[in-house]
Amino acid sequence: MKKTKIVATMGPASTSSIEILKQMIIEGVNVCRLNFSHGSHEDHKRTIEMIREINKESEYDVSILADLQGPKIRIGEVENNGIELVDGENLTITTNECIGTKDKVYLTYQEFPLDVSVGDKVLMDDGKLQLEVTATNRKDKVETRIVHGGILSSKKGVNLPNTKISLPCITPKDSADLAFALANQVDWVGLSFVRSARDIIELKHIIRNAQSHAKVVAKIEKPEAIDDIEDIIIATDAIMVARGDLGVEVPMETVPNLQKMMIKICRKFAKPIIVATQMMESMITNFTPTRAEVNDVANAVLDGTDAVMLSGETSVGKYPIEVIRAMTKIVNEVEKNDEIYHKEELPEKNQDRFITDSVCFNATRLAQRVEAKGIITMTFSGYTAYKISSQRPKCSTFVFTENRQLLTQLNLLWGVQAFYYDKMVSTDHTISDSKYILKKKGLLKEGELVINIASVPIEDKGKSNMVKLSYV
Ligand code: PGA
Ligand code: MN
Repeated sequence: MKKTKIVATMGPASTSSIEILKQMIIEGVNVCRLNFSHGSHEDHKRTIEMIREINKESEYDVSILADLQGPKIRIGEVENNGIELVDGENLTITTNECIGTKDKVYLTYQEFPLDVSVGDKVLMDDGKLQLEVTATNRKDKVETRIVHGGILSSKKGVNLPNTKISLPCITPKDSADLAFALANQVDWVGLSFVRSARDIIELKHIIRNAQSHAKVVAKIEKPEAIDDIEDIIIATDAIMVARGDLGVEVPMETVPNLQKMMIKICRKFAKPIIVATQMMESMITNFTPTRAEVNDVANAVLDGTDAVMLSGETSVGKYPIEVIRAMTKIVNEVEKNDEIYHKEELPEKNQDRFITDSVCFNATRLAQRVEAKGIITMTFSGYTAYKISSQRPKCSTFVFTENRQLLTQLNLLWGVQAFYYDKMVSTDHTISDSKYILKKKGLLKEGELVINIASVPIEDKGKSNMVKLSYV
């Protein structure tokens, strides 16, 4: 069993038949990402039903991440479905809807003329085209000079790295998509272009009001988010290093260090992290990855990420099954490197979870010393699963819970395998039962050492306060 999880973006390539999706899951997909920048609610509904059907007839417990588009800015339609922007020439950007020509294009962001300043950069199509603002009428027109031209086709994304964008983090489209996602009980909600911890607090407020237990992934792809990163990580449940837009919004050569920095902080606060975008990009059309892509996936695993993500590779690529197989092979190989295990974060004495944190910390340390085969924890909130996972134990992490949603939700976490369990006889009984179940599943063998974490007395359903070491 690999420890590093794989997030795969859904699309026609992965959901045209349930057999393809099932095979992708067998090859190693742990989380299916629904990208709300594309597809209708009916499409997403069909995908959700497919995933649930596979979960019902198997033991994979695949998780669902609904990824909201956020305040993404785009240009409108352009004539001939492609116009040529020539270096040194001028281009007018208007907020009045029109078909774009080589002189004028429409932008979907109404406050743009007010928010922008002369000298600001305008980047289009993942930064392939660069323009600079030369004037604004502060109403409906912005004049720009083309710094790096090329072909601009319809509806391409626009990045404004220097502009303080006044758009709300949750747009009307996001609200509708969120309502749909929560009604369908997704496990995780991703929010794009997060700028501050406040954006996360607002999203969590909406989720709570909808009586949902969905957790939040903050997508880090704006310089403002980097400036507020520690507070964002504290406020959110997980983050995504969204390297596609991040590498346009900040100099792309800074992304590798930012990736390492974010992974470190996430581990400190026991928040899962996903490294995303272009990991196996060439496999959208090719049967094998490039050597550089193999190294990129390997290095993300070595950096200590919880999960690696695929986008176009699995949503529209030619080889959705092969790309998962290739990624799993890389992950399995790199996980032979002992450097990735046993990252210690000393529990802080002044925290309200000090007892549980210390129990998790020492259970992981004990597992390392005695070379235990597994750490078994009972949880309702999932807290101990996050905590144990963040210490990156080399042995297996088995989570037993009566909270059904956790079975899928926890599948994003590094190394975590969850099992449904609802008996509450006594702690002794639960411990021997958990060992029996894992032995029956072939995950533990007689004579192996295991560590159990529990809360005694069991009927209090309190926080974990006990560690037991015993043989299977
Ligand atoms: P996206 O996010 O695919 O929704 O743009 C990921 C990224 O920007 O890297
Ligand atoms: Mn993005």
